[in-house]
Amino acid sequence: MNEEYEFTLGGERYRITRRQFEDRLVGVASAPIKTHSVEIGGHRYPVKQAVAIGVGINGYRSSFISTEALRILRKLGYKPDTELAASNQEHERKKEFILSGTHHRVARRDFEQRFVGVEPENITKYSVEIGGRHYPVKQAIGVGLGVERLSFTTMDAFRILRKLGFKPESSDRIAVSTRRYGSDDAYASMRALHRDDPLSARYWVYENWQAEGHKAIIHHAACGHCKNGIGQKGGTDKAHGQWLGPYATVSAAEVEARKTGGAVRRCKMCQRLS
Ligand SMILES: [Zn+2]
Repeated sequence: MNEEYEFTLGGERYRITRRQFEDRLVGVASAPIKTHSVEIGGHRYPVKQAVAIGVGINGYRSSFISTEALRILRKLGYKPDTELAASNQEHERKKEFILSGTHHRVARRDFEQRFVGVEPENITKYSVEIGGRHYPVKQAIGVGLGVERLSFTTMDAFRILRKLGFKPESSDRIAVSTRRYGSDDAYASMRALHRDDPLSARYWVYENWQAEGHKAIIHHAACGHCKNGIGQKGGTDKAHGQWLGPYATVSAAEVEARKTGGAVRRCKMCQRLS
């Protein structure tokens, strides 16, 4: 906290300790966060606001750019969040809309939570990817909002899914999602798995490249960490890691886990379920 850091910002030279930096931010209200943010003293600030106040600059909006703010925060030992973290915050923000005359107020994160353990029904034409699986759009809205499916149209479903930040698609374009599964074959077998035996795909791999080196941990779908591929901060935040799967057997999951190149382990919490 008392080590002095030296850097240049907007043509000025600064020498500052973390303590001095944080002391200036005490009691400062956070400005609205657009993309990059950083947590200091239990509050989350836009990176430019944090740096300007922390080093004592007035009128910061024009004097330096976010990239410089990120550089200085990292130099001081903070871990500013990227756009991906901002998108996580976006997932927690409640969206408002009207469906069949009823007013709804729901966050994407809460909507997604309702899909834990829900098997996708057969897709005829329009689907949406939620937690790594494709659901028919009307099933998605029925499950996510807990509403009667006869009460709304496919167009309604599209409108609301888009509002919540999902990307509903037509079934002939689903192949674009293959990158998530590595190859067309892997994706086709994942799809076949759901179609032929929806209950057989019960294992997931969480690939994590941040905590203590690169790891790939095998979980059961019902594990509290896994939640059928949406646990661990949504699994889509690339700053933390990603979910791979689902796989029918532990050994299939293990094969995929080895392909990541990380240290393969089984989750201590859930593997008794297998
Ligand atoms: Zn687990």
